Amino acid sequence: METVFPLPDEIAQGHLGRWRFINGFSSNSTCMNYLRQKTKELEVGQSDIPDVNILACCSEVDIRIYQGLHTLLPFVSFTVPDDQRLEGGWAPKIVRKYGMRLPRQFAHFCPACVGDDVYRRGFSYWRRAHQLPGSYWCAKHPTVRLHETKSKQSFEREPQFWLLNGQSVPQNLPEEIRNNSISHRFSEACRSMLKVTSGQNNGIVRRLLVERAISKGIATGAQHLTSQKYQRLSDLVKEELPVVLQAELCESLLNKCKREYLDEIDGAIGFPTYQEIPRSIGTAFAIIFLYSSVQEAISEFESAGRLLQQSSLERIFTGGRYNISAVAAELKISESIAGKIIFANRHSISLKISQEIGAQV
Ligand SMILES: [Zn+2]
Repeated sequence: METVFPLPDEIAQGHLGRWRFINGFSSNSTCMNYLRQKTKELEVGQSDIPDVNILACCSEVDIRIYQGLHTLLPFVSFTVPDDQRLEGGWAPKIVRKYGMRLPRQFAHFCPACVGDDVYRRGFSYWRRAHQLPGSYWCAKHPTVRLHETKSKQSFEREPQFWLLNGQSVPQNLPEEIRNNSISHRFSEACRSMLKVTSGQNNGIVRRLLVERAISKGIATGAQHLTSQKYQRLSDLVKEELPVVLQAELCESLLNKCKREYLDEIDGAIGFPTYQEIPRSIGTAFAIIFLYSSVQEAISEFESAGRLLQQSSLERIFTGGRYNISAVAAELKISESIAGKIIFANRHSISLKISQEIGAQV
């Protein structure tokens, strides 16, 4: 059995396809079953190990690193409730459910990257960034349109195979998308979300988005339904996004009424809930509508993440007691927002506050 190491930005499905090809399995699923068996023998007693973790173990890569660099989890599960997050990674429940899930229907690749790969390595491979929703161009080759292949076995062969056999086509790119700035910024936001390392993208992102939304008069979650003072994020998106892109990214936008709450988008700036439904598309829209640039948003998320990592690991809710001002000061948000966050998180929050503040709680 030949060990197959993952390549830069290689997506797990394509990596599994190379495992299959190099070791002569008939399909990705038979190859996966073999690797699952092999992992079981190594880790006695463990059952139901997520496919992603199996691929990591067999490829001799740290599981957290593999999840962060070879799956779409950093995008798909950019924000998840605090209790679904482990030190630097995601809970097995999340990995099992979303680790191998793709946000787009078909497999995508950049023909120019294929050319580069074949020149440099002699073969081509599947990249994560090309599978992100709303991606029409490759970041490295911005004038080359991505190709898509509709075969269910796409990832079992290298992209070059589909290209040479004429079984891939350039993605349909209507004029409205080509020149739409929201569509370009949306792609940028998705790519940036993918790059934020898992240790930094904890539950605090959602809180920062909530705080910012309120300051901009945008309704958060199902709240403010009756107040005319607040706008819905989903209304802003619907106004500016071409219909053809609404259909691709979030079909429910098409029939949405004004002021109606749309969980896939408005839920991204709702207060944290126990639901584990990822709202990555909503988060990407929140980033582009709430911040002046994607970079500004990502820097804010990363510095907040670092702040939490540096401070001590005190659970602030002990015996149901908490300190609103301490939380507000720590997260740099108003006390009224802190109160709401605390209310919404009463049983699950694991904010880290400094020992000094912790002592006053
Ligand atoms: Zn490319």
